Amino acid sequence: MSIDKILQYQEADMKLIKLENELKSSDTAKKMIYFQNATKQSFDALTRMNENAESDIECVKKMMAAFEEVSKQIDEITSDDIADCDEKQLEYYSKQLEKLEQKLDEIERETSRCNKELSDLNVKQRKEYEQAGNSSKSYRKYTEDFNALKKEKSVEAGAIMKELKDLEKGVDIELLDRYKKVRANKKRPVFVPFIKPSSCGGCGMEIASDIINKLGEGRKIQECPNCGRIIYNKD
Ligand SMILES: [Zn+2]
Repeated sequence: MSIDKILQYQEADMKLIKLENELKSSDTAKKMIYFQNATKQSFDALTRMNENAESDIECVKKMMAAFEEVSKQIDEITSDDIADCDEKQLEYYSKQLEKLEQKLDEIERETSRCNKELSDLNVKQRKEYEQAGNSSKSYRKYTEDFNALKKEKSVEAGAIMKELKDLEKGVDIELLDRYKKVRANKKRPVFVPFIKPSSCGGCGMEIASDIINKLGEGRKIQECPNCGRIIYNKD
């Protein structure tokens, strides 16, 4: 059985693959993917910032509650009439007040730390938000460009596909099946020549002698055990 027809089919199919590769590796496709990733990254960063902001807000709330508590205790101490207190009591109060003031200091420091984090975050968030908007805009633009390019190439692809359909009629069904299976595994070209004395014309791997012997018989095609392509022997 001749493999000329399937080789002819493969030749036309390679034009289609080349066209697909041109589209995939085009600047437009690369930019589209780049800005898609950039947009995703910005959104991830914004989500993380929101989580940090939430914990800072939680911290401020906790400090507010702590302040309420301390100020209530200060009120209690300071509302006692001086006339009712002896010296010992006054000394005790003054020590208590000192401790409460220290607590107020701590609260103030912690509050200002959380507030600073919040305001830093706010600046970062605004920048990131702007960045996300720009990336998303570029992503939309390059998606449109990509689709235009795809449409442009599809005219050419349509002609090749028609050619393939015509060629398909003359190809052995079993061969075509094998071709399509290997093609689906992204091993292209599917049919590769046997390179004398003993290599696969696709992956270059040395092949075993029993396979080389089989290549000399019958249909003269064998699957490469390494890459899965179909090796043919034209001799
Ligand atoms: Zn191979």
